[in-house]
Amino acid sequence: MTNEKNQLAYFAEETLTDGDYTLQEAVAEAKRCLNCKVPQCRKGCPINNEIPQFIHALAEGNLGEAAEHIYHQSDLPAICGRVCPREKQCEGNCILGKKGKHMEIGKLERFVADHALDGGILPIHVSKKTSGTVALIGCGPASMAAAHDLAAKEYAVTIFESTSQPGGMLTYGIPTFRLHKDLICREADFLQKMGVTIQYNTKIGADMSFEDICKDFDAVFIGVGASDAWSLGVDNDAVDGVVDAEQFLHQVTQVQLGEATVEELPIQAGDKVIVVGAGNVAIDAARTALRLKTDVEIVYRRAPKNMKCLPSEYEEAKADGVQFQFYSAPRAVVGTDHVEGLQYEKQKILEDATMVPTGEFGVVPANKIIAAIGNKPELDIITGFGVEANGDGYIKTKEIPYGMTSKAGVFAAGDIVHKPATVVLAMREGRKAAAGIDEYIRAKRVMEEVQKG
Ligand SMILES: Cc1cc2nc3c(=O)[nH]c(=O)nc-3n(C[C@H](O)[C@H](O)[C@H](O)COP(=O)(O)OP(=O)(O)OC[C@H]3O[C@@H](n4cnc5c(N)ncnc54)[C@H](O)[C@@H]3O)c2cc1C
Ligand code: SF4
Repeated sequence: MTNEKNQLAYFAEETLTDGDYTLQEAVAEAKRCLNCKVPQCRKGCPINNEIPQFIHALAEGNLGEAAEHIYHQSDLPAICGRVCPREKQCEGNCILGKKGKHMEIGKLERFVADHALDGGILPIHVSKKTSGTVALIGCGPASMAAAHDLAAKEYAVTIFESTSQPGGMLTYGIPTFRLHKDLICREADFLQKMGVTIQYNTKIGADMSFEDICKDFDAVFIGVGASDAWSLGVDNDAVDGVVDAEQFLHQVTQVQLGEATVEELPIQAGDKVIVVGAGNVAIDAARTALRLKTDVEIVYRRAPKNMKCLPSEYEEAKADGVQFQFYSAPRAVVGTDHVEGLQYEKQKILEDATMVPTGEFGVVPANKIIAAIGNKPELDIITGFGVEANGDGYIKTKEIPYGMTSKAGVFAAGDIVHKPATVVLAMREGRKAAAGIDEYIRAKRVMEEVQKG
């Protein structure tokens, strides 16, 4: 990934909201930990991270031991420590937070991980490539985690990625002002040092056939995510000026990479933009559009407390200058040749979040509408793989061996299995599927030996 100045340099140069610790600050923060007998923070973490143990090691100034604890449970701690929805997970469960300020677990985790990666504390295991061969489709967090664990188990691992960059939604979804793209390249570099091959600009099912890689490798892992957007689903939603959030964020990344120009973006300076949706994708799209010098308003059908984004994301968006209109269910896009606004119907929201239409209509004027109401799998590709999927295209997998699809030797994990969720979940599932792949290939070898007699 290039660090060269480009037309959207101000995206790349923005610092992270809460900055990074110095060693003294990190140790001082670590010393606040109460070392609870039953650490609730661990219960809140989807990967049961060894939080008290790593914090204790850090408090004693032992960075190596802290890193060991963290990497025991996680392959991507420098990323998770930055983008995990921590207020719902580890930090939200910290006992200190009940009376005052919770431990800054994510910030400490990324501090240790950054030092481990940059300072060479983390030993690099170079795969001997003696256990077998595995192809991974897609280079998002699910595949990156699986690749890490498989290389550590001496497999020859090849990742096929359709774009020019690693990271999946880490790179093409999450904006640079929340996650610097260099950090994702650092993880990909680490994998390559372990002996993993990453073949970019190779879309399986288009540039290379799925059948061919199934023939060429002992096992195949599908980690393609779910990047097809749902349309707005209101009258006139195909009119010019209606933009899909992920596509917009993807294009912004391409501009940052020098692969496209600002002029090619669907949102331009001076636009009046409406974002429909209230999850983290909607907030990221709104904050990104705002940085293009536009006016941005999020129109949401329910109340502030019903939004899917984190409270902190809502606050950050407001602080940036994003406007919000609540209790307004989109009904139609206004405009004949181009968007002129969004018609909505006011809603009454009951305690259980049920919407009751009021019959009161209005129009928010705008010349662009960003739809951020969710994603689904790329159906053509999944159908082409010939694995069993549900009606929406999410791949069905087994418990034993973990992650195997309806085709023997073909595994899947991440958003393409469990629906769009979080990085930490994609990573956890990628690791579990890697263990399933190892189990499958070992069993296959035993069977082959037995059959040979
Ligand atoms: C805007 C946005 C913000 C988000 N913010 C957060 C956040 O703050 N915290 C959080 O935890 N999660 C966040 N998420 C969710 C998180 O990024 C995803 O859950 C996670 O990246 C899913 O990982 P994955 O590996 O399953 O798939 P992806 O990250 O989608 O990666 C799939 C990869 O497969 C590639 N691919 C697809 N088809 C093919 C093919 N046929 N051949 C080869 N390659 C292919 C794609 O190019 C992509 O690189 C966000 C998502 C978005 C869109
Ligand atoms: S992985 Fe996420 S939830 Fe777990 S400790 Fe790290 S930041 Fe917290």
